Amino acid sequence: MLKDKSVVITGSTSGIGLGMARAFAAQGANIMLNGLGEAGEIEKARSTIESEFGVNVLYSAADMTASAEIAEMIAQAQCDLGGVDVLVNNAGIQYVAPVDEFPPEKWDQIIAINLTAAFHTTRAAVPLMKASGWGRIINIASAHGLVASPFKSAYIAAKHGIVGLTKTVALETAQQGITCNAICPGWVKTPLVEEQIDAQVQAHDLPRDEVIKKVILERQPTKAFVKIEEVAALAVFLASDAAASITGASMSIDGGWVAH
Ligand code: NAD
Repeated sequence: MLKDKSVVITGSTSGIGLGMARAFAAQGANIMLNGLGEAGEIEKARSTIESEFGVNVLYSAADMTASAEIAEMIAQAQCDLGGVDVLVNNAGIQYVAPVDEFPPEKWDQIIAINLTAAFHTTRAAVPLMKASGWGRIINIASAHGLVASPFKSAYIAAKHGIVGLTKTVALETAQQGITCNAICPGWVKTPLVEEQIDAQVQAHDLPRDEVIKKVILERQPTKAFVKIEEVAALAVFLASDAAASITGASMSIDGGWVAH
């Protein structure tokens, strides 16, 4: 079903993005990886996926804060992968501070990477999808795209923003074989979250296990992390023909978090 499709995944050198790259490659799709990191490690991830699944895997170093680099990444996908059939906007960063102490440069960076980058990828990819009459846009939002927590003003504003962008793009493309949906994960154990666990261990002076159970997973009723593979499987489903009538939706995968 996804065999030979071209899948561009921003922020796919780590965590959920890398997991989605593996899941799409397992379906026979060709992949454009993107993200920051050490060159040798990125090349290892790229070549491993390529050889393990027998697909074509490219890498773009485009910085998601730079609109010209984003346009170049989509142009590279068009040229070297034959188009963009599936676009996954996943790159994201976090910063935690009270709003009156929030560094303005961190606000700008989070809005740029977590929200504005998705506008730039989408505006470049939609014409290609329209031309082929088929496309899937999957925005990795968060439970924080639907509800808030304190001290994450920029992240939560960006994630609520991406849910709004998702709905608008869905309405505009609904008759062109294109769907646009958001995935809203709860806590998933990735490097982004490991950093927050470390900070909470220091702040509360508690053992790591206790911080995970009592602080991090406090609002996640299952008291267990969502697995990267589970988020990836949902993304693959949303890209499938079976999901053709799902558009403009925000799909929670959060262990019950937003049921509160
Ligand atoms: P991660 O830190 O493991 O991965 C983030 C990716 O974004 C990396 O590949 C990184 O290189 C890339 N990135 C960061 N800045 C970039 C830039 N300027 N240009 C290009 N790439 C850049 O984090 P993750 O947890 O896998 O997060 C992936 C997405 O999932 C994010 O949008 C995050 O907000 C969202 N999310 C994560 C969780 C969670 O609990 N981990 C929960 C909900 C939503």
